[in-house]
Amino acid sequence: MPYQRRWTHENDAIVRLRRPPTPIPNVGRLWEKSNPPLRVAPLELEVAQPLPEVCAAHGIQATGSATVRTLFYDTDAHPRFHNPRTIQESWKALKGDAWFAPVSTIVAGKWPICPRCARKVRTYRHVAYGILAIMAANFVAFIVTSYAHIEWLKPWLGSVFCPGSILGLIVIVQLFAKSGDPVKLRPIYDERFAFVQAHPKFRQALQEDCRR
Ligand SMILES: [Zn+2]
Repeated sequence: MPYQRRWTHENDAIVRLRRPPTPIPNVGRLWEKSNPPLRVAPLELEVAQPLPEVCAAHGIQATGSATVRTLFYDTDAHPRFHNPRTIQESWKALKGDAWFAPVSTIVAGKWPICPRCARKVRTYRHVAYGILAIMAANFVAFIVTSYAHIEWLKPWLGSVFCPGSILGLIVIVQLFAKSGDPVKLRPIYDERFAFVQAHPKFRQALQEDCRR
């Protein structure tokens, strides 16, 4: 069994991975040319073992599953890092460097989810759609105001729309990204294994499945 690494936790579950027999579909846009080029070979992986019907995050009986493609990034901290940026890279981005690190690894898997996970997904998506609706309403109000020549209102709506829409879009992208994440994976140290932040009951169920 692999030993603990820098960004793993002693309570993590370890799930076997493998290279999929056929390429993962619809991920072409993720393999954009990066400048500078990736420091490691791009890698597509999939979960290579059956997972127990227990939610990894909450440790309760799963009531469904979610197909997830987890992305890993070539960052200064690690070439297959689980976050697009480290704090140091966020600081460099503020000074004009690349905003996001390029994708280096994709892990596809069908993860068990419980009612709490499903509720979280719904809530995040409702909030994202809510923000989108507010942005759309603001845009319509801005157009109507311009058309009706309500001059005093235009700067107010314009100033809300301009920084507001950029921030809103960032929040919406983050909410959609988080809503599809029933598990938290650590950086990929070895293409044969994923370290997964897991509830003790998920670990126990996984170990029992492996002993069978
Ligand atoms: Zn759950």
